[in-house]
Amino acid sequence: MTIKANNPVLTSWITVNANSDFPIQNLPFGIYSDADTKHHACSAIGNYAIDLYELADLGYFQQLNINKEVFNNPYLNDFIELGKSTTRALRDRLSELLSADNKELQDNKEVFNRVFKPHSAIKLLLPVKVGDYTDFYSSIDHATNIGTMIRDPKNALMPNWKYIPVGYHGRASSITVSGTPLHRPTGQMKPADAEVPTFGPCRLLDFELETAYIIGKSTKLGERISTEDADDYIFGMVLFNDWSARDIQTWEYIPLGPFLSKNFASTISPWIVTLDALEPYRTEGYVQEPKVFPYLEYTGHKNVDIKLQVSIQPENATPTVICDSNYKYMYWTMEQQLAHHTVNGCNVNVGDMMGSGTISGPQPHEYGSMMELSWKGTKPLTLNDGTERKFINDNDTVILTGYCQNDKVRIGFGECKAKVLPAI
Ligand code: CA
Repeated sequence: MTIKANNPVLTSWITVNANSDFPIQNLPFGIYSDADTKHHACSAIGNYAIDLYELADLGYFQQLNINKEVFNNPYLNDFIELGKSTTRALRDRLSELLSADNKELQDNKEVFNRVFKPHSAIKLLLPVKVGDYTDFYSSIDHATNIGTMIRDPKNALMPNWKYIPVGYHGRASSITVSGTPLHRPTGQMKPADAEVPTFGPCRLLDFELETAYIIGKSTKLGERISTEDADDYIFGMVLFNDWSARDIQTWEYIPLGPFLSKNFASTISPWIVTLDALEPYRTEGYVQEPKVFPYLEYTGHKNVDIKLQVSIQPENATPTVICDSNYKYMYWTMEQQLAHHTVNGCNVNVGDMMGSGTISGPQPHEYGSMMELSWKGTKPLTLNDGTERKFINDNDTVILTGYCQNDKVRIGFGECKAKVLPAI
C-alpha cells in the first residue's frame, strides 16, 4: 500500500529546517490550547501547529465527511475512533494542502493566523484519554542487564523471557504530557544492609527510555488480534518516560510486581506520530530463537529504526546527553506484543497505551535507564556542569527525544521532558 503523505519528494510552502522533526512527511496529531482556544486537535509542520478544527470549519476537509466537532475535544480519541481509512485520508489531505504546488491555503493569507500557530505560542496537552495502560519488558539488552545485576549473569534472562512478551498492567491516571513536573515519590524501602524497612523520599529515582503505541481500533471481549492484523489496531507512537523508584520497587515487587514504584508519574510526548508515517523506517527484527509459538510468528520488517536520546538538564545548566539508543533493539515487536496481549481474549480500546519497556542497546552508552548506565550506582556519570549522577536528583529535567532518518527524509517526535521536584 502506498501512503500518499509519505512521498519523500514532497516539499511544503511552509519553511521546514533540515533538522526539524516535522517535515511534510510527518504530520503527527496532538491537542493544543492557547489564549483563544480551549482544546483543538492539531498537526505540525516546521515550527507551526496546524489547527484542524479551524481548517474543518473553513471547509478544507469537506470531501472527507468528518464532523468538525471531533477536532474540538480535549482528546483525540473520537478522531482516532473514526478509523484508519478516515485518519489516513485526513493526513493525505493535509499533505496536499501543505504541498509547495498547492495554492488553496498558500494564497489565502487571511486564514493563516487562524490556522497556523507557532509552537512557542501554544501549550500542547495530553493527546489521548488513556483508558488502560500496559507496559512490556521487550528489550533483550535491558532484560539481560537487569538480570545480570540483580540475579545471575549466567542466567540473566528468566526462562520465560524468549517465549512470552512479558508485561504488566500499569496505571493510566498518572500519565502526563511532556512539560508536567513531578514530585519525587515517597514510600517504603529496605536498603540491603537494613533489617527493617524505612519510610521516606525515594533515593534511587530513575527514568526509563521507552516508546508507547496508542490503540486505534477497539476489540470486543473474546477477540484476538493476529500479528498480521495488528498494525490496523495501532494508531501511532509517542516517546515515553516510565519513571521508576528503584528502592521502592525492590522492596514491594515480590510477588506481584511493581506498584507504587511506577504509578506516581509517567510522561509522554505530545505528538502522536502515526504508524503510517513510520512505515518507511521499518527494519528487520531479531532472529528469535527458540522459535516462538505460531500466534507470535510474523512476516516482514516489523521493527522500526527510531534513534532515541536521553539528556539530563540540572537546574541552571545545559543538558548532557547520557544515552543514545534505538527502538530497533526491541526483541519483541509491537505486533507480537498486541497478539500476545489479546491471545486470551482480553479486549483493547481506542486510546489504550502500550509501553515498549526500557529500550537498551548492546553498548553501555545505549542503556536506557540510570540503573544500567551507572550499573546500579557503581559507575557514576559526570555531567557537563561537573556534577555526578548515579540516579536522578531533585530539580533535574530528563529529556527524551527521538527521530527516524533515511537517505531522503527525517521525521521526529519532539520532546518528552519533565522536571523532578523535591518530595512533598
Ligand atoms: Ca517500564
